[in-house]
Amino acid sequence: MFIDSHCHLDFNVFDVQRDELMSRCYERGVAEFLVPATEFHRWSRLATLAKQYSSWRVAYGLHPYFLTSATLDQIECLGDQCEHYGAIAVGEIGIDCWPGAFEIKVQMDYFRRQLQVAKALSLPIIVHARKSYDLVLKCLRETGFKSGGVIHAFNGSLVQAERFVDLGFVLGVGGTITYPRAQKAQRVLAALHHSAFVLETDSPDMPLSGFQGQLNTPLSIPLVAQSVAEIRGESVEQVAAQTYDNLLRVFPKWNEVLF
Ligand SMILES: [Zn+2]
Repeated sequence: MFIDSHCHLDFNVFDVQRDELMSRCYERGVAEFLVPATEFHRWSRLATLAKQYSSWRVAYGLHPYFLTSATLDQIECLGDQCEHYGAIAVGEIGIDCWPGAFEIKVQMDYFRRQLQVAKALSLPIIVHARKSYDLVLKCLRETGFKSGGVIHAFNGSLVQAERFVDLGFVLGVGGTITYPRAQKAQRVLAALHHSAFVLETDSPDMPLSGFQGQLNTPLSIPLVAQSVAEIRGESVEQVAAQTYDNLLRVFPKWNEVLF
């Protein structure tokens, strides 16, 4: 059984094919999905879909890349939304230092405030971080956040990986490791302890090598697992079982009935 620990199945691009896609995922052994929120205006729809699909787990938060639609009032609603609409985590939240990103000071303010909400609810977090690992670590330390979570699409060094692992995080491994040029990420993955990572697709984004330009879906999780198994010299079954254990450890509410 495979789990996709990070996919945006609530996005409109899946509307016409969601039921069919879910059936195909189940047939291929991709059984459960963690769907993190991006923008406030999508939270209620995400909750509705999560009620409809019992294989979904959800998180709510304000994604750092979409802060143009965000207001501080929305963070006032975050705790209630998490408590009443089945959140197993707060996310995705974080800091994005990609060119063209929102002003970093503002991003850090939103991140810290959402960390406080997660801390108050003792919920883990799903972190979006691009070129910002040190800033994320700084915010985690400043807020005294200790509930761990996932560093989604991790592509940092082994030293950075270990810093996050020490704080109770696991690292999200996705389609980028399938690219021949991703040698640094592959070396880091090979060196990680088996308790340190989970599998993800970031669907509909981040297509695997050989599938560029196509819509990515959780159907690619078995291929990610295959790649991880080859890089680490393990079996696909081992990778599937270990990453599932890791998810359950990091997200204690995974198997609670929340609706
Ligand atoms: Zn995402």
